[in-house]
Amino acid sequence: MSMNSPSTFACPACRRSLYDRKRTTCGYCGARLPDDLRFSKPMRDALERGDFTEKDRLDIRVDGSGDYSP
Ligand SMILES: [Zn+2]
Repeated sequence: MSMNSPSTFACPACRRSLYDRKRTTCGYCGARLPDDLRFSKPMRDALERGDFTEKDRLDIRVDGSGDYSP
């Protein structure tokens, strides 16, 4: 998974990178986000169950995130 693709997940309304794909609305302009820009339901469930390794979590959080710093 690429860690340098900030534009992969962007708000369709304001084009800003989404820093938290678990949100249902854009954190900048408040536009409702299409489901395919957010985590899928099975993936969110898996995250909540802890099915991912710590590295997987970091990859997921870094991808498309503008405020994550290691
Ligand atoms: Zn927006």
